[in-house]
Amino acid sequence: MAEYKAPLREMHFLLHEVFAAEKLWARLPALAGTADRETADAILEEMAKLAANTLEPINRSGDEEGCHWNDGVVTTPKGFPEAYATFCEGGWGALLGNPEYGGMGMPKMLGAQVEEMINSANISFALYPVLTAGACLAIDAHGSGELKQRYLPKMYEGTWAGAMDLTEPHAGTDLGMIRTKAEPREDGSYAITGSKIFITGGDQDLSENIIHLVLAKLPDAPAGPKGISLFLVPKVLVNEDGSLGERNAVHCGSIEHKMGIKASATCAMNFDGATGWLVGEVNKGLAAMFTMMNYERLGVGIQGLGASERSYQNAREYARERIQSRSPAGPQAPDKAADPIVVHPDVRRMLLTQKALIGGARALSTYVAQWLDIAKFGEGEEKRKAEALVALLTPVAKAFFTDKGLECTVLGQQVFGGHGYIREWGQEQLVRDVRITQIYEGTNGIQALDLVGRKTVANGGAFFELFAADVQAFIDAEIDREDMAEFVQPLAAELQRLRGTTENLLAAAKDDPHAPGAASVEYLHLFGHVAYAYMWARAAAVALPKTAEDSFYSGQVQTARFFFARLLPQARALAASVEAGSATLMDIGEELF
Ligand SMILES: Cc1cc2nc3c(=O)[nH]c(=O)nc-3n(C[C@H](O)[C@H](O)[C@H](O)COP(=O)(O)OP(=O)(O)OC[C@H]3O[C@@H](n4cnc5c(N)ncnc54)[C@H](O)[C@@H]3O)c2cc1C
Repeated sequence: MAEYKAPLREMHFLLHEVFAAEKLWARLPALAGTADRETADAILEEMAKLAANTLEPINRSGDEEGCHWNDGVVTTPKGFPEAYATFCEGGWGALLGNPEYGGMGMPKMLGAQVEEMINSANISFALYPVLTAGACLAIDAHGSGELKQRYLPKMYEGTWAGAMDLTEPHAGTDLGMIRTKAEPREDGSYAITGSKIFITGGDQDLSENIIHLVLAKLPDAPAGPKGISLFLVPKVLVNEDGSLGERNAVHCGSIEHKMGIKASATCAMNFDGATGWLVGEVNKGLAAMFTMMNYERLGVGIQGLGASERSYQNAREYARERIQSRSPAGPQAPDKAADPIVVHPDVRRMLLTQKALIGGARALSTYVAQWLDIAKFGEGEEKRKAEALVALLTPVAKAFFTDKGLECTVLGQQVFGGHGYIREWGQEQLVRDVRITQIYEGTNGIQALDLVGRKTVANGGAFFELFAADVQAFIDAEIDREDMAEFVQPLAAELQRLRGTTENLLAAAKDDPHAPGAASVEYLHLFGHVAYAYMWARAAAVALPKTAEDSFYSGQVQTARFFFARLLPQARALAASVEAGSATLMDIGEELF
């Protein structure tokens, strides 16, 4: 497998040249004294080293060994505890944390790029700190001052890790059906009883304590999602002075044997009257959990991006070295028995498709992160706009990056021919590892329903209009540039198509209850294509005047051209599928399946 080299040049280009992050940081008071270009570049460089030197080397061995379960105790693969210790010593768990409790308060725009590197190097490893960061966010946003004071500093340190306990055997997507009970005790705590499955990092040997955020119902709770509350349940109880006390009644019953991410422990957890504390308000647990889930959802999208980048680097190196057949234009390496396969148009198609999808995803994750930062640190009208855009774009990022993540890893595997199917080159692990990203944190089907239902139909397309206005403002700013015509004109046409499709969908949803669900996945993909077109056009706008300066910029412009010519046309077919309505799905009798 090619050595992983973090794409720092691409990251700097997006952060500093395309999105001018420093200007945003300078005008947001919470970031002004914290984040600047020099600090950001130093952080990216440090993570690039950690990813390549510490996390990547235990990726394959972690996959081969997997996690172990013995009498309720989970052990991670060899090297994981040491790598986790190094990660924590570097302060990485505190990167985005609240400075009041020991966090560094860095922007998500930077955090998203750091996460990409961790995921490229080792998705299984990434899950442990990423879940902890998400749990911290939920505690910080909804927990009492006492809970924050007691748990956040240790969690930012990584000494204590976080886990998210939602799923039960009969309740995955439909969390309203959960049965885990929370009974109030006189001292203000709750006794939590029930079983959860598929809990990532539910137990492990990396941290001294594990802080479970558990969804449960009070005895008198209303039925369905409106009766769910959120509880903080530590594996080991914490004494008044912050030291560790008795073991809580929460245990790991088993771990799953699964297709990929084998070094990530996926646990069945039993709560037998375990002591927990309410986070946020009674019966508002799902809303509180969404703080964490929205963060995690962009994070899962970034897992798809990280795996794609790894696949691309691997396939690119192989395509330059593997020699098979001659170029249709005659020998390109006459001194060799055959030409490197990178000369063949179809191999170039596979490489460029990956490069274009990765560039689109990296830019869109930086763009979504920018709105996350404004939603968190901004104020007034701008903050409200940012919240709406984050709500709209989060399901797109989660589902589109991961659907395309599988496509990219399969394309990378295909570049290797038969060698991609065997273990040696690492490609088959990438395909297996990335597959879960389409399923957990809400399946991609559910993300698409969320985009169409709650984020579009429910507000009459108001969030969509905010996004469209942002794209339109870019088009208006660039419309007079002759060199940009090849990007601006098709972008304007595709934005118009997306708007028309959105309006038709809003109208169809009024009469047909199946219209949103029938259109949702294709609509999300259509949206994703237009969003990537916007991102590539923004990249081209910056790169075009600099092509003579540095070949990096020519690479950006040429990849943008490839995206517009070869991938964006799929938007037409997707729009046609969306417009096809629900009849062909719903008219067929169940017995005819
Ligand atoms: C490796 C792994 C790690 C995980 N980590 C965690 C974790 O840390 N914490 C946690 O709580 N959970 C975790 N999960 C659980 C994961 O989030 C769920 O598996 C996922 O949300 C889907 O739930 P389910 O498996 O019950 O599928 P179901 O809900 O049964 O869904 C089955 C199918 O039906 C579809 N479907 C369901 N409802 C609808 C609908 N209304 N409209 C259209 N389609 C629908 C789904 O999209 C899916 O295709 C993990 C799972 C795995 C495999």
